[in-house]
Amino acid sequence: FFQAEDGIRDDLVTGVQTCALPIYVASIRLTGVSKHFGEVKAVDDVSLDIADREFMILLGPSGCGKSTLLRTIAGLEDPTAGEVFIGDRLVNDVLPKDRDVAMVFQSYALYPHKTVRANIEFPLKVRGVDKAERATAAIAAAETLGLTPYLDRRPGALSGGQRQRVALARAIVRRPAVFCMDEPLSNLDAKLRAETRAEIVALHRRLDATFVYVTHDQVEAMTMGTRVAVMRDGVLEQVGTPREVYDRPASVFVAQFIGTPPMNIFPAGSLESGPHVVGARPEHTTIDPVDGLSATVTMVEHLGHEVQVVCAIGDEHRVIVRNAPSGGAPRVGDSVRLSVSATNRHRFDATSGARLDQ
Ligand code: ATP
Repeated sequence: FFQAEDGIRDDLVTGVQTCALPIYVASIRLTGVSKHFGEVKAVDDVSLDIADREFMILLGPSGCGKSTLLRTIAGLEDPTAGEVFIGDRLVNDVLPKDRDVAMVFQSYALYPHKTVRANIEFPLKVRGVDKAERATAAIAAAETLGLTPYLDRRPGALSGGQRQRVALARAIVRRPAVFCMDEPLSNLDAKLRAETRAEIVALHRRLDATFVYVTHDQVEAMTMGTRVAVMRDGVLEQVGTPREVYDRPASVFVAQFIGTPPMNIFPAGSLESGPHVVGARPEHTTIDPVDGLSATVTMVEHLGHEVQVVCAIGDEHRVIVRNAPSGGAPRVGDSVRLSVSATNRHRFDATSGARLDQ
């Protein structure tokens, strides 16, 4: 990549292929990849295989190392240890521009004084593609992303969602084999986020390229990815399909990061005897008229499609129950009994948080 004169960073400039679809697609293999910044282990011994044409989500809280891992794949960071392969090629020493990777950032990184058309064409221009071919490719990319009416506008005259689409068009115009996206939707409002989310999923299907997508938003992870890699403190906690990470979280951390509201964790010895903690999704935790663990209702939230009943076990341990709106909800201060059927219980080590029935 390069730095523009005005200080706005363009995304990666990569090889140009002018066929309708990428000539090849690329798998990605990371083996023992670490990236340390002094004492900070931003990424620590990560091994991950991303298949050809997969939509892999890197998910985790702020500071878990997901952007650093993405940037290492794109070549914007040199790993401290480990190997990065794209296809069969070891790319540790390959420059970003030669990796056939396009990067899309949250910040759009568009040139404000260039038109949409010129912004989209720009990566082709710097590769020396002739004018007519550039124009055709830019029109096709704009058409794909619904930008045809805006080709002669400047970015300042576009909405946030349209600007992000220009950034996407500029990435696809080069037909790279791998797209690396770093929180591309985080500047958009909720409605536009949902729309653009669907557009990116459709784009992935259409382009048949490998997507690696960083987010801290678990809704994006659950709805967009073919698989999700959940990171914490530089390490991978779990890799699986959205369904797998939701249904069989590998740790208390994953159980509570995925799902809104998060999984309830019952203290050791409360729901079951033994040294382990028990987890249950709020939709699997029920208020039992007859039997169960004693709790006190601390809050009742009517959300329209459901009612969330927040309970305290003892003085402070919070547990949430999701009820149908039609069921009679208890009131704040009521004493209730909570139960979870045996098939809906998840057991975790009380100290490490690791799932016990791996
Ligand atoms: P966010 O969602 O907030 O962007 P992230 O999960 O993408 O977070 P990274 O940006 O990868 O996290 O950062 C991981 C850790 O590495 C953080 O503790 C961060 O402060 C540190 N870090 C990242 N880049 C550098 C750098 N250039 N120099 C020093 N430390 C860095």
